[in-house]
Amino acid sequence: MKQPYDIIIIGGGMAGASLAIALSGHGLHIALVEAAPLKVNDVPNYDDRGIALAHGSQRIFSAMSVWDDMAANAEPIRHIHVSEQGGFGFTHLDAEEEQVPALGYVITARDLGAALLNRLTALQDIDLIAPARVQWVNIEEDLAHIGLEEQTLSTRLLIAADGGNSFVRKQLCFDVKRKEYGQSAITANVTPGQPHDNIAYERFTTNGPMAMLPMTEQRCALVWTVKDNMAGEILSLNETQFLEQVQRQFGWRLGKLQRAGKRSSYPLSQLYVPDTVQHRAVVVGNAAHTLHPVAGQGFNLGIRDVATLAEVVLQAMHSGEDPGSMAALQRYQAWRRKDQRNVVRLTDTLVRSFSNNLPPFKMARNLGMLALEGLPPARHAIARAAMGIHGRLPKLSRGLPI
Ligand SMILES: Cc1cc2nc3c(=O)[nH]c(=O)nc-3n(C[C@H](O)[C@H](O)[C@H](O)COP(=O)(O)OP(=O)(O)OC[C@H]3O[C@@H](n4cnc5c(N)ncnc54)[C@H](O)[C@@H]3O)c2cc1C
Repeated sequence: MKQPYDIIIIGGGMAGASLAIALSGHGLHIALVEAAPLKVNDVPNYDDRGIALAHGSQRIFSAMSVWDDMAANAEPIRHIHVSEQGGFGFTHLDAEEEQVPALGYVITARDLGAALLNRLTALQDIDLIAPARVQWVNIEEDLAHIGLEEQTLSTRLLIAADGGNSFVRKQLCFDVKRKEYGQSAITANVTPGQPHDNIAYERFTTNGPMAMLPMTEQRCALVWTVKDNMAGEILSLNETQFLEQVQRQFGWRLGKLQRAGKRSSYPLSQLYVPDTVQHRAVVVGNAAHTLHPVAGQGFNLGIRDVATLAEVVLQAMHSGEDPGSMAALQRYQAWRRKDQRNVVRLTDTLVRSFSNNLPPFKMARNLGMLALEGLPPARHAIARAAMGIHGRLPKLSRGLPI
């Protein structure tokens, strides 16, 4: 272990692992520190939730040469259908209209994590330090230092990818904006009676939004948002009762729901760090922004942080610049700020505008959806944003290696 490192990444979740892979192969001296053992069954968020990866995120993984290892477990989304229970409005997005092979892909966090860890553990130029939990952080002019149980590590740039509850972010006193929703997401992989035909359904119900995303083996990933006080009761239902409840909210577009796999519940809140950089430190992924899953944008936003940060850092290193300097990090921040702010705001607006069940709001929502349905240019703009391919894109988002 040769110290100091050029870069230390804290967190081996989807954001941290992806970033280490993106930075590998460029002659940098990198360490990744993860609190859990780096095995797919041990890293906390490599679980069975279905992750909708936008077209732009798939391009990033392709350019990083990890997509081939994910593709067999990923189901394309060719059509998105948005509607409201008991409402007259609906709208849709379509891959053919957008001239892309798929609007996105659904893969379990477990399969995504397995592909990332397979690659990560094969890389020779990344020191994997796990299980090891960061206990303290100290930033000095020339180096950032972190304390683990038995050692101290130093680096020119410290990257916090340690999740929504980020210890590093707290230690470094980054300003955080939070919103509590009083809602939880119930997830389960469900087998429907009819083929999903690669359609992702987003349905707004009086209890909260419900997504049914197409998965491999003709399953669907259910993400159902409910009020916090309903979550325990829903988890305790038997399978038949659970499927009946889901069917009542979702309707019959997929025929009779047949089976449901393991159910999990996630409390939901929004967290946003307006300034994500400090001298020698940056926060990325959920540590920088934790979103409500209503639009499936959380990790898609995080992987765009990863693609951009990798490009800025490598450019800085290649031109002899200090990668932990404010000048380099502010270039990253300026590039990412608008996308981060827009996605955080849009997600929050979506949650709030569909949470109001008063008749005038319901009417306005349904008229809005119908108006959108009749306005292809507006739908096209929304589709490009949802696919993560609008604005100034880093090389990886354009499918190019860095
Ligand atoms: C129900 C649900 C559905 C979702 N669906 C989608 C979707 O469809 N599409 C999408 O894009 N996103 C989705 N998301 C969001 C997505 O899951 C997250 O954005 C993503 O998992 C965040 O990854 P991360 O690497 O930033 O953080 P995390 O997964 O939280 O990883 C952080 C890592 O840091 C480690 N760590 C923490 N503290 C320390 C420490 N002190 N020292 C060392 N290591 C530490 C942890 O062990 C952990 O492995 C969904 C989220 C939920 C809850």
